[in-house]
Amino acid sequence: MVLREGARVVVTGGAGFLGSHLIDRLLEGDCEVVCLDNLVTGDEDNLAHLLGHERFTFVHRDVTEFIFVPGDVDAVLHFASPASPVDYLDLPIQTLKVGALGTHNALGLSLAKGARFLLASTSEVYGDPQVHPQPETYWGHVNPVGPRGVYDEAKRYAEALTFAYHRTHGVDVRVARIFNTYGPRMRMDDGRAVPSFIGQALAGEPLTVHGDGTQTRSICYVDDLIDGLCALLDSDEPGPVNLGSAHECSILELARAVIDACGSSSSIEHRPRPVDDPQVRRPDTSLAERVLGFHARTGPEEGLQRTVAWYLGRRR
Ligand code: UDP
Repeated sequence: MVLREGARVVVTGGAGFLGSHLIDRLLEGDCEVVCLDNLVTGDEDNLAHLLGHERFTFVHRDVTEFIFVPGDVDAVLHFASPASPVDYLDLPIQTLKVGALGTHNALGLSLAKGARFLLASTSEVYGDPQVHPQPETYWGHVNPVGPRGVYDEAKRYAEALTFAYHRTHGVDVRVARIFNTYGPRMRMDDGRAVPSFIGQALAGEPLTVHGDGTQTRSICYVDDLIDGLCALLDSDEPGPVNLGSAHECSILELARAVIDACGSSSSIEHRPRPVDDPQVRRPDTSLAERVLGFHARTGPEEGLQRTVAWYLGRRR
């Protein structure tokens, strides 16, 4: 078991949305955590509550450069990457570098330390899917030279490299394919649907729905996703394993749900669809259910209410 008292865990991208929630969970489980982050899209505020924690260390580091962590390491969890379409379109080369060089360095650290390696991969490896819902056996439908290709291909390369290290060097690997996740600590300006809609609804501005809003996503509350990641880390399943919610809704339905959760009277305005924006997305979660006992429990109404409450709390 990796998640045990005193285990030493390195988290790259630990100042980000998922990384910081994961670190909280690891510390609650009495692990020691070393967080590496260059704060390009991550935010120190996400870790502010951990300053001075005796089992937590923050290192300001770009993981595309050589990384060295003194002492024993039991697990390396590689979460460093811009992850919202706005961010990775803004930082295309950094996104490719962290998926390629960053993953290489994180795997090298795992190999040197004999540590288990977990890759935060993504539903974006399926691209604009032609199989629905998406099982792990689907190879995807990605435009390598389109604007989203920088993220999709970086993560596809990262998966390939992870399994090459597993086959060649015997590194003990886990690959999670993470579907749309939301909750406290998402940057309101990160461009993703949930934080954008909440920001707009709370400001009484129109919600900007791309296209006609019939495209779908399946949104998972962050606490559920962290449950799945921890279960994967402690399982014998290398993956890839889809982690997310099977509750699919259209973006128009999501916009209406956010308006309700905010008690807002905002209207909805339609904007052009981004290039290569996937039309549908829903994980086939049968593998995660079978091998991890994973099931996203929080419904969208409850999850959105908790998220809105967090944003409101920050304004005070
Ligand atoms: N979207 C939208 N309005 C926004 C932001 C996003 O309609 O202000 C749409 C976007 O085009 C996509 C869906 O919401 O169809 C989910 O986008 P998001 O960026 O949250 O995640 P991803 O595309 O990576 O699934």
